[in-house]
Amino acid sequence: MNFNYFDNLYINSHAKELAKVNNSGGDFIENVYMWHTSLIDDPPYVSLAIFFNYCSLDCVTCCNRLLLSGSGGTTPFHLSDIDKYKDQIDSTTIVGGEPFIQDLTNIRNILQHTKDLGLRTNALTNGLHLWESEVRELWPLIDHINLHVTEEFLALGLYEKVDELPFEVDLNIICRSDNMPFVIDCFGLLEGDKFFIKKDFMCGGRKFIPTKI
Ligand code: SF4
Repeated sequence: MNFNYFDNLYINSHAKELAKVNNSGGDFIENVYMWHTSLIDDPPYVSLAIFFNYCSLDCVTCCNRLLLSGSGGTTPFHLSDIDKYKDQIDSTTIVGGEPFIQDLTNIRNILQHTKDLGLRTNALTNGLHLWESEVRELWPLIDHINLHVTEEFLALGLYEKVDELPFEVDLNIICRSDNMPFVIDCFGLLEGDKFFIKKDFMCGGRKFIPTKI
């Protein structure tokens, strides 16, 4: 693959420390910025989207800037809140920020509780952490992910491993006027019919990546 963004990658190696909480394994889930029912996070399903603070990336296309720094605070969320919505939703979606840098006991509990209710599980993720051993243990509990394809994801060679994932994967490229070269690169690099271009709707970010086209 003739694709090299290594000189300009930005990965926040402290993101897990920022996101770390001391989970007691109980009903309360820490570090949730907000949560609500959603028609856009797991289309065409109605989903309960649970947004966590902090991310290991800092994309120019990010529309959730408050989550990256955790400066937006938290909203109380409990596993039992899923029960209250179980007749209105088809799935839960863990999103951020980055869900797979969180306390994985929390993530496991959400996924397992969702499955126990007979609902579908979905994640919006940058994909960087999916092959880490603790996250691999969660694979059987995941039905679907929307994977935000970034320069970092491609440069780390993770796209070549997507076929290993035992659940449904949709690939999403966020399109903005200032990252069109990357989007055009992706047209030539990504295969399949599960590749979506999404239009960003908010400004933000500091990371500008020169592309090689
Ligand atoms: S767009 Fe997604 S992967 Fe990128 S910084 Fe925002 S939350 Fe993280």
